[in-house]
Order: sequence, then structure tokens, then C-alpha cells
Amino acid sequence: MSDDRPVRGRCPLCGKPRQQAFRPFCSRRCADLDLARWIGGNYRIAGQVAYDGDGDPAAGHDRDEGPGGAS
Ligand SMILES: [Zn+2]
Repeated sequence: MSDDRPVRGRCPLCGKPRQQAFRPFCSRRCADLDLARWIGGNYRIAGQVAYDGDGDPAAGHDRDEGPGGAS
């Protein structure tokens, strides 16, 4: 099995010789990176917390419903 020998051409990301198994990239890492970049056009990178910054996460605790509730 010699599927991992370099093939003609270079990785478009880092310029290293491509690997047959990952073409047109040189490695799994570059393939993943390209995918992440592609997805990054529409979504945030997975692993990052997507915070829209719509306020304090602790908000919502300001309700003060006492036990009893007279009147
Ligand atoms: Zn590469």
C-alpha cells in the first residue's frame, strides 16, 4: 500500500506536495482547514462559543417573586 506517496501538484493552502489520500491537499490538517474556511463563510468556526452579545447571561435572575404574594 503506497497510497500516501506525494502526487503531482501542490497543496493550495501551504504549498507542500500533495498526498494522494488528501488531494488536492497535503494532509488531513489542510483539508480540514480548507473546510473550516469554507464553512467559516456562513458559520462560525466550530468550537467557538457563538455569542450574539444580547446581554448579561445572568439576567433573568432579577425576578423577585416572594412566597406569599399578598394583594
Ligand atoms: Zn497543505
